[in-house]
Amino acid sequence: MFEALSGKLNGVFDRLRRRGALTEADVAEASREVRIALLEADVALPVVKDIVAKVRERAVGQEVLRSVSPAQQVIKIVNDCLVEALGGGEGVEHVPGISLNAASPVPILMVGLQGSGKTTTSGKIALRLRMRDRKKVLLASLDVHRPAAQLQLETLAKQAGVASLPIIQGQGPLEIAQRAMQVARGELYDVVILDTAGRLSIDEALMEEVAQVKAATRPHESLLVVDAMTGQDAVQTARAFNERVGITGIVMTRIDGDARGGAALSMRAVTGAPIKLLGAGEKLEALEDFHPDRIAGRILG
Ligand code: GDP
Repeated sequence: MFEALSGKLNGVFDRLRRRGALTEADVAEASREVRIALLEADVALPVVKDIVAKVRERAVGQEVLRSVSPAQQVIKIVNDCLVEALGGGEGVEHVPGISLNAASPVPILMVGLQGSGKTTTSGKIALRLRMRDRKKVLLASLDVHRPAAQLQLETLAKQAGVASLPIIQGQGPLEIAQRAMQVARGELYDVVILDTAGRLSIDEALMEEVAQVKAATRPHESLLVVDAMTGQDAVQTARAFNERVGITGIVMTRIDGDARGGAALSMRAVTGAPIKLLGAGEKLEALEDFHPDRIAGRILG
């Protein structure tokens, strides 16, 4: 992810560095180039406008042009603006990863469209909670629409070394969710991960099902899983889920692919929800915390 954007921005900065002393016109030209690079990376237009306006204002306003290394200052300003767009920056509290700061068993609701990587991510989170946080984790699939989904989660649970809720044919998602919570209370689990059904696109039936499960289980975290490769669609999906169901965070998957990265930069501004985790591969170990400053650093290379 971000290779193309990274390459373009570095091109802009190289040209700035060669200039030495900068004029206001140089900054204007660089801002235009940053704007094009962000648009090509599929960053949402309002977010692009905001970033570029900030870069220009700060570059011209902070005596940057008369400083010893103006190009360096402009790069720092772009970096700061990217960090802010990604949900970080001074005075902003960004807590990476998921929060378990609640009474056990802590319910975590996983939502998203089919194929986004939701079930795989549930397994990844389970593995991490078991290995890193020493938690006793129960995985439960609420996907009664695709019979294979429940078996897939069972297999993933085995790989992650955690328990999965026994499948009882004929139960609906609400019943399964309530049974999972009951089992978790009875058997003293620390965390219950509820993997809801996905659909190919957002529809009312999907939203209603997720909303009902959420109301019944009152999850501590409601994590939306989105595929970075779907670009602006991922942002629209997040907006819809947040408006209809309410989410506490986003997990962006397939960052190991060649996604242009615009979704990561747009998410916070468009949905208000923070990206918490990144999926970087098919293996259960391929889960990373999301740090705005590190991602900005990756973009600027
Ligand atoms: P679901 O329908 O949302 O539950 O999606 P799945 O968890 O079944 O994932 C769909 C496919 O995407 C599977 O082949 C996963 O191995 C793959 N996948 C999930 N997360 C990632 C990721 O971060 N990177 C890559 N490359 N593949 C992923």
